[in-house]
Amino acid sequence: MNDDSMRCPTCRAVQSWSDTCRRCKTDLRLVRELAEEFEVARRLCLSSINQNRLRAALTNARRCVQLRQNPETLRLLAVCELLNQNWNSARSLLIQLTTDYICE
Ligand SMILES: [Zn+2]
Repeated sequence: MNDDSMRCPTCRAVQSWSDTCRRCKTDLRLVRELAEEFEVARRLCLSSINQNRLRAALTNARRCVQLRQNPETLRLLAVCELLNQNWNSARSLLIQLTTDYICE
């Protein structure tokens, strides 16, 4: 599965993005909207880091984790917490990463 494809949350069929699942006809519009919202937040976070807008980066990193919690987003949030000198939050995230995901 890549960025051009998605997995139906109902039947698990992997397919290209569309409004309905090709197999079970589940309405996938909300899934697509959340994926698009995640990508916007991720890009805003990265561009904010690049522009040294660290509070904005942190806000968008938190939104990324809300929308899709996985090792990638937790690492992004940990970096943003470090950049904002939120040491305890960054430490907690790194502990969560090592215990929940065993640092991939
Ligand atoms: Zn389906």
